[in-house]
Amino acid sequence: MPDVKIKTPNLDDIFEKWKQSAMRKDKKKMEKQFGTKGAVFSLDVISAAEYVKDTMKEAAIYFAVKKSLGPAAQGKEEKMLPAPRISREYFYSFKGAGQVNKDNWKGDELVPMHDTIQGITCKKCNGKGYLEDKCKTCGGSGKIEETITVFVGEDQKKEKKAFSYPCGTCYGTGTRREHCKECDGHKTLYKYQILPVPFKTVVTGVPVLHSSAQTKYEKEMGDDLHKMIEEVEGIKFSDFKTLESKAEPSLGYWNKNIKKTISSAGSDYKSHEKDKDTQITSQIYLFPMIQMFCETKKGSKFEIYSIGSDNKFMIYSNF
Ligand SMILES: [Zn+2]
Ligand SMILES: [Zn+2]
Repeated sequence: MPDVKIKTPNLDDIFEKWKQSAMRKDKKKMEKQFGTKGAVFSLDVISAAEYVKDTMKEAAIYFAVKKSLGPAAQGKEEKMLPAPRISREYFYSFKGAGQVNKDNWKGDELVPMHDTIQGITCKKCNGKGYLEDKCKTCGGSGKIEETITVFVGEDQKKEKKAFSYPCGTCYGTGTRREHCKECDGHKTLYKYQILPVPFKTVVTGVPVLHSSAQTKYEKEMGDDLHKMIEEVEGIKFSDFKTLESKAEPSLGYWNKNIKKTISSAGSDYKSHEKDKDTQITSQIYLFPMIQMFCETKKGSKFEIYSIGSDNKFMIYSNF
């Protein structure tokens, strides 16, 4: 790529553009700040030579990225509860409801899903709801064995005779049923999954602007460039290495801040390249930026910024 030198806008042109826009925005304020009592107010008498106190030549770097915001939540948790506790939980369902816009979602990103509820036979009681055990009263025989004392004959010989009858605790079965504590007698346990809310994959365009001038307009400039990149002229680069080596000859001026800005923009660009959810969607633009420090006739200080070439540039001001 041959060196392309970009021409910075003329200071008078920037000032002129600012004058026109400031006049459209607030004529009264212009008159108050630059007018002379008793004289007819005219824009022509407001000149850059008189009101621009200092000028800095800076630079800005711009590129656009596309971000995919997928479901941030990952993971899968499983819970198992006895039947009565299931009705005390809150469940969610997204079946047929489509995907969820993450910005509108209030609540956890992982939620219990209604359609995952599944009955599982209690392992402890094998789905009977009770545990069978030997009857403690009869020792499992189902019978109570006792003896009767019988006096036999004239001499009343004492004899013991066996006497057995069905056990009243187990109704003669010899076994006893004990409530299963695991399933609380409900035979079944219920398991369900706690899963991520199905968020929509949102792709958004994000402008990235780095400027060497300390300005609070960086965000605004970035947004504007995103919308009307063709309205502002800069030099396009397809990789950062080239930009780094061509920046100085392209701009025709250089300073420490520009150098620092380019290097931090470069590492930002690299981190976007590495991010798998991000896609860089534009070329890299290098823009000349002029920062003008001004003072009105009344002594109020303000700044004017231009971004772009003499051919196509935008202005910003805190006037
Ligand atoms: Zn018994
Ligand atoms: Zn059980």
